[in-house]
Amino acid sequence: MHRYAEIIIDISKGRLDHPFTYRIPSGLQDKLRLGSFVQVPFGRGNTPRKGYVVGFPGRADMDEGRIKEIAAVLAAAEADDEYKAVRLAAWMKRRYGGTMITALKTVLPARKHVQPLQNKQVRLLLTKEEALRQLAFCQKKHQVARARVLESLLAVREQPYSLITGKLHIPSKTLLSMEKAGILKVDVTTSLRNPVGELTVGNDILILNDEQRTAVNGVLSDFTALQEGRKVPFTSLIYGITGSGKTQVYISIIERIVKQGRQAIMLIPEISLTYQTLLRFYRHFGSRVSVMNSQLSEGEKSDQFERARRGEIDVIIGPRSSLFTPFQNIGVIVIDEEHEASYKNESMPKYHARDVARAIASMHRAVLVLGSATPSLDSYYHAKRGDYRLYTLTSRPTGGVPAHVVIADMREELRRGNKSILSRPLREKLEDRLSRNEQSMLFLNRRGYSGFVSCRSCGHVMKCPHCDVALSLHRGGRLVCHYCGYEQPAVRICPECGSRYIAGFRAGTEQIEEALRKEYPKARILRMDADTTTGKGSFEKILSAFANEEADILLGTQMIVKGHDFPKVTLMGILLADLSLYSNDYRAAERTFQLLTQAAGRAGRGEREGDVVIQTYEPEHYAVQYAAAQDYAGFYNEELAYRKALLYPPVHHMLAVQISAKTDDHAQYLCGRIREKLDHIAENRATGLLLIGPAPARVSRIKDTYRYVLYIKSEKYATLIDCKDAVEALCLAAAEDKMCADTMVQFDFDPVNPY
Ligand code: ADP
Ligand code: ZN
Ligand code: ZN
Repeated sequence: MHRYAEIIIDISKGRLDHPFTYRIPSGLQDKLRLGSFVQVPFGRGNTPRKGYVVGFPGRADMDEGRIKEIAAVLAAAEADDEYKAVRLAAWMKRRYGGTMITALKTVLPARKHVQPLQNKQVRLLLTKEEALRQLAFCQKKHQVARARVLESLLAVREQPYSLITGKLHIPSKTLLSMEKAGILKVDVTTSLRNPVGELTVGNDILILNDEQRTAVNGVLSDFTALQEGRKVPFTSLIYGITGSGKTQVYISIIERIVKQGRQAIMLIPEISLTYQTLLRFYRHFGSRVSVMNSQLSEGEKSDQFERARRGEIDVIIGPRSSLFTPFQNIGVIVIDEEHEASYKNESMPKYHARDVARAIASMHRAVLVLGSATPSLDSYYHAKRGDYRLYTLTSRPTGGVPAHVVIADMREELRRGNKSILSRPLREKLEDRLSRNEQSMLFLNRRGYSGFVSCRSCGHVMKCPHCDVALSLHRGGRLVCHYCGYEQPAVRICPECGSRYIAGFRAGTEQIEEALRKEYPKARILRMDADTTTGKGSFEKILSAFANEEADILLGTQMIVKGHDFPKVTLMGILLADLSLYSNDYRAAERTFQLLTQAAGRAGRGEREGDVVIQTYEPEHYAVQYAAAQDYAGFYNEELAYRKALLYPPVHHMLAVQISAKTDDHAQYLCGRIREKLDHIAENRATGLLLIGPAPARVSRIKDTYRYVLYIKSEKYATLIDCKDAVEALCLAAAEDKMCADTMVQFDFDPVNPY
């Protein structure tokens, strides 16, 4: 029996970020576990506050008489999983900084009141022959939605309702009328136990090729070794071009590990989680698989976690937060497209899903599988060093040849008098595709309509009054700030010099679309960017319209290059390949290489050979050259040499200390004190420690907050943790200092995005 509990109070003051001791009343004795969410009286007025149990000390550290009692248990922790979560939170706090309460809230998502669980499945009632007849009828009558449902159910006879309405975009009234017509049945069950066997379809069992089998067997034998307590690398990197069968490898591994009574977490960036991929998982795991996405409500998310907690599902698919699914006994974590920036959490604690996955895997004796067509420099570096296993998939089981890539030098184009956005090689190929009714994709390596407005007489740039960034011109003549949302009408006269020559540099997708429409009035064009995909499901609508060949050209930003498979596309044009190289960011080349390689992989996925044109003003840049040659190893070697020379990750570690304040004075004052403290540490230390800054951040002001950043580089991560601890201690001590009012310090280890 525990008499006392240590509680972290849910309050966002740094000074209170340590456990407080409470007595456990006898009525709550057997309800409390590590991780339990409780209510306690706090402070002089005994205000009711919430908090988490993080420990059970043997004795109290103060007078028995002054100790207060826990008032109530709000959510009981049932098992070992919460214990692991508390340990994980402590690990995250130490590794990434910030308070224990933010770490706890990250790993122990609040538990909402759970609705009685409902499970809706759609089941085909017709025989295959009848369904095919019905399908032919629907196609003749142009009942597109009905035809889509039938096609899909012909592939898998029983599917989750949400998959069909959500990912396939079928209105529920269509399903209702099909149910009335006796074509299908919507089953609603509250019990979730659906035997998997029923759903597994025999005819799609694939024979893995040699490379796939090597990867699957390798990972499984490491898994077995781990269970026997042997020391083996538990992380594997699967490097395979798109379409080389990585997903098949994940499924095979998960299937085998789930059969042994363990659970699986599958991370996929939301943007590349396609209907086809989901269907493959449903085929194998039936209703024992569940999907998380950002469109689920808090209640729905909480339901998914509850199902996991009760052991009703074995596999969860979702974005980085799915890592915290409270499974009892995780056997495998898969991170697909592991190089994606979306795996980095950009608010405190600023964790990377890869690192947290490793920590979780080692707590559960699970294996971690990373996969990518363009592995992050980090993961490939570890694979090369032998920390991770490396498996390579080199061929496409379904055939298809690599596309033919051409680099178009835009400087040369200009010299020859071509001022258009399309180079001659791209124009020629585009017109050729249009005449042959083949599809093309045009990718602009830049977001939105980000043309800024400047004066050609005096050079004045229209800036946001609250942020240190240029305003961008939107259609309809509004100037918008992308950082704070500030808006104002466009100006006709320069506010600086009164000149009329003030205008926008227009180079966004919107404007390219206009130009294309003018030039090719008959072509059907779809545009996909931040502006056209704000509505719920609009993203998938555009993709499925393009897949259904309702357009000849798909024009868009990054979104169009991530993981979507359009077999009919035979041309990929990359407009302006260099813009992302300019940002002062040590990962710019890596990012560009990945984007270009992925974009090039989009063309020629079907039977016909594909062409790729990369337009650039920097044709000699190594990221462009290696991407055109589809040479990952070449790029890796050159980029790693650069990182090594400049002490960047993955060779060294780097900590960004991000300092912000409401007044510039306070920000600079705190910067000075932090630098002083760190100088002191650097002097007293034998190990190398390199300090850079503080300097104004890339965006030096956002929403009237001044921002500075200081970088610390070191070979050892632990040294950086010491620096973080020292800065945190300094901030705590300075809490009463008037000059530090309204200041904030955050930590970003091995940053992915520049601050
Ligand atoms: P990736 O995840 O690397 O893009 P997938 O696993 O999606 O690759 O495989 C691409 C295509 O090849 C899919 O249509 C898949 O069904 C098929 N495929 C994968 N492995 C095999 C195999 N061993 N035999 C036949 N087809 C396969
Ligand atoms: Zn001017
Ligand atoms: Zn602004």
